[in-house]
Amino acid sequence: MGSYRIVENARLDARNTFGVRATAPMLVEVADATALPELFGYAMLRDGPVLVLGGGSNLLFAGDPRGTVLALGGQQVRIVEDDGGRAIVRADAGVEWHALVLWTLGQGLAGLENLALIPGTVGAAPIQNIGAYGVEVREHIHVVEAFDRTLGQVVRLRSTDCAFAYRDSVFKRDPDRYVVTAVEFALQRDAALRLEYAGLHDELLAMGMDAASLGDVRASQIAEAVCRIRRRKLPDPAVLGNAGSFFKNPIVPVAQAEGLQAAHPSLPAFHGSDETTRKLSAAWLIDACGWKGFREGDAGVAASHALVLVNHGQASGAQLLDLAHRIAASVHERFGVALEPEPRIIGAAW
Ligand SMILES: Cc1cc2nc3c(=O)[nH]c(=O)nc-3n(C[C@H](O)[C@H](O)[C@H](O)COP(=O)(O)OP(=O)(O)OC[C@H]3O[C@@H](n4cnc5c(N)ncnc54)[C@H](O)[C@@H]3O)c2cc1C
Repeated sequence: MGSYRIVENARLDARNTFGVRATAPMLVEVADATALPELFGYAMLRDGPVLVLGGGSNLLFAGDPRGTVLALGGQQVRIVEDDGGRAIVRADAGVEWHALVLWTLGQGLAGLENLALIPGTVGAAPIQNIGAYGVEVREHIHVVEAFDRTLGQVVRLRSTDCAFAYRDSVFKRDPDRYVVTAVEFALQRDAALRLEYAGLHDELLAMGMDAASLGDVRASQIAEAVCRIRRRKLPDPAVLGNAGSFFKNPIVPVAQAEGLQAAHPSLPAFHGSDETTRKLSAAWLIDACGWKGFREGDAGVAASHALVLVNHGQASGAQLLDLAHRIAASVHERFGVALEPEPRIIGAAW
């Protein structure tokens, strides 16, 4: 049986990267996921609302969470299969994401380098199928292990069972069903590295590589380039509260994208999930509405990045949510495009 600790009226201010005030009526810190079947035997967890909280870097407490907040502490990382070329790495949900990326690179395993320095935990990585610099984590997920509250047991979902899509998965669509306990990643010792994302190439050159040696670039050098770009572009939540990109890039029909691009030739549009859609740059749309660097009280938009909402100090989650609504309304009014938040909103509806 695994161990756990219960804290009543637990403050969550330091457990969310926006740094907003929130209190959980009951916080259960689970050291070992084998405790979950027993814990979900209690009526309060079995029948009541449960919020699984990782590093709090992709949610906004617009109010206090109801019911129980569950934090998983498992910290194990190990290789469970290895044929010399391909290895399966298993990491507990509580492991810090960036620490896992560095661990795999240290083992000579490539695949996660473009996802370096994303805040948060391993358990949250499949929830929105984290992505950055041309790679999504689904490309390397082998199995997601989770406690299934509907079945009352631990299940192993293969990547193809997770309905992964852009910043989306079965876990995000049905947040009350699964508690992710561990993730297994399929990684390669000799993988083709991904350099196509704009900026990565230039950063490697700025690090002293010459164009001729880019063909021999190592995964750890890509991770370093990604970290350098991210440190320059994104505000550090330890200094300025934020949850990374607040809005998803909207996916619209091709005809709408073409119409908007005809009127606004500088609007970036990328391929959508299929040939009938295009993904527009939410940052461009928000910037065009004049929000970059906006501040009202302590709620604002980062000066360096129009997609990032920031807490300059004492903003409440409700104030940040109100600002997000106003931004989305202005983009809709000007461009007819609906923006959707990327973080999960707790304690209020979007
Ligand atoms: C500066 C900054 C940069 C960022 N850059 C990126 C980026 O490049 N790409 C990107 O995709 N994201 C990015 N993010 C968002 C965030 O880091 C990721 O979404 C991350 O995976 C969230 O991890 P977390 O542990 O903090 O999750 P939390 O914020 O704690 O939780 C997020 C969601 O996942 C659920 N959840 C968490 N753990 C579990 C679990 N074990 N089982 C079931 N559900 C769970 C929660 O209930 C919630 O719905 C960024 C955030 C910040 C602050």
